[in-house]
Amino acid sequence: AGRWARAAEIVAELEEQCATPTTRLLQMAEAMTVEMHAGLASDGGSKLKMLISYVDNLPTGHEKGLFYALDLGGTNFRVLRVQLGGKDGRVVKQEAEEVSIPPQLMVGSSDDLFDFIAAELAKFVASEGEDFHLPAGRQRELGFTFSFPVQQSSIASGTLVKWTKGFSITGTVGEDVVAELTRAMERQGLDMRVVALVNDTIGTLAGGIYYDKDVVAAVILGTGTNAAYIERAHAIPKWHGLLPKSGEMVINMEWGNFRSSHLPMTEYDQALDLDSLNPGEQIFEKLISGMYLGDILRRVLLKLAEEAALFGDVVPPKLKEPFILRTPNMSAMHHDKSSDLRLVGSKLKEILGIQNTTLKTRKLIVNLCDIIAKRGARLAAAGIVGILKKQGRDTLHDGSSKPRTVIAMDGGLFEHYTIFSKCLESTLTELLGEEVAATLFIEHANDGSGIGAALLAASHSQYL
Ligand code: ADP
Ligand code: MG
Repeated sequence: AGRWARAAEIVAELEEQCATPTTRLLQMAEAMTVEMHAGLASDGGSKLKMLISYVDNLPTGHEKGLFYALDLGGTNFRVLRVQLGGKDGRVVKQEAEEVSIPPQLMVGSSDDLFDFIAAELAKFVASEGEDFHLPAGRQRELGFTFSFPVQQSSIASGTLVKWTKGFSITGTVGEDVVAELTRAMERQGLDMRVVALVNDTIGTLAGGIYYDKDVVAAVILGTGTNAAYIERAHAIPKWHGLLPKSGEMVINMEWGNFRSSHLPMTEYDQALDLDSLNPGEQIFEKLISGMYLGDILRRVLLKLAEEAALFGDVVPPKLKEPFILRTPNMSAMHHDKSSDLRLVGSKLKEILGIQNTTLKTRKLIVNLCDIIAKRGARLAAAGIVGILKKQGRDTLHDGSSKPRTVIAMDGGLFEHYTIFSKCLESTLTELLGEEVAATLFIEHANDGSGIGAALLAASHSQYL
């Protein structure tokens, strides 16, 4: 009984520290808006980098020709080719391939990583069928989706600010990633030019707007989390270039690095951050995204094992292994609908080597999943409300007809973790009210960033 009392105490404490009441989320949304202003005012003015994407024109639907995209930003990278048929033809044909990145390359040297990518890209090009047509004498053109913070200097160049999401590669920070990729392609003998360098958020926004003109922002909830949105160019004090004709500029917020005293942080989050490859950074991301949720759960389970003997007298050794419990497994346990929580039991056995758990223990674990996942989902919703506030879309304006507001959403966490995505959507309604929420649509853009990058390659082609 003493054990259960201690376990209950630990869970209650977690629940209290993870609490995200409406008022707190609204404060957080407001803080997000304030930081957005600060980040737009000057470089280094905020934790939010508010990076200028150099995308001032989004796809129109008139794009035409054969274009490629490469998406690097998580555990996998994707290559894609698309034959665009212009206004009437739209997407004539597209093909994609996904390749997982060997873990040693994520912490190795820059050349090794880019050589691997260029080699895969060359293989992909070599496998091209007859449905794809490159006019004679033309160079292949690529949109490069690179989902790490990049300080761009033009649409097709930019230097890496820092690695995130478990990547830690020597010799890339401060380098132009397009130049790195270009050199690697040359080493492979691949004749292809990078004409657009974009973040996955920008790619998702571009891909989203191609299909729905009311898209105003894009959010990624995958291994990491980030957002991009359309800003008025004259509302960007740090932009000293010419005002674009469109009057608009897409901003990559890098919201994963958001931080605020309103964020609910626990001892587990502090420890996870300290043990991470980037302590003190990407705090918002570490509370929300797929790379981390499972490990937060593991840390709570470890505490329960050590202090409340949740799994018996011996602490299961595997519980001490960082990242052994991945978010997809947490999600599978969380969604277990069987009356005896059979799947929770088998996951514990399979992943952590924990045998014979009681139903009571399994229920407790599902409750932990709920606390951790819903905190993340609610924080992400508050972030979205922050963007809508900045755009003046968090309230309805009198007299005008009700505009649709669409958020293009991508990422495996949102796509597969149903309890997470449902909670995010209901929290948006809670924060915005029924009337505004009725004008807001979250559109899941599956691999939208790939097609988006190819579309941006088309609109920045050297042959236009
Ligand atoms: P990336 O963010 O690496 O570009 P994805 O958008 O495909 O790639 O997202 C992959 C991430 O999504 C994984 O790292 C994982 O955290 C999360 N994820 C994948 N499948 C699931 C699942 N079934 N349940 C919860 N999270 C998942
Ligand atoms: Mg991705």
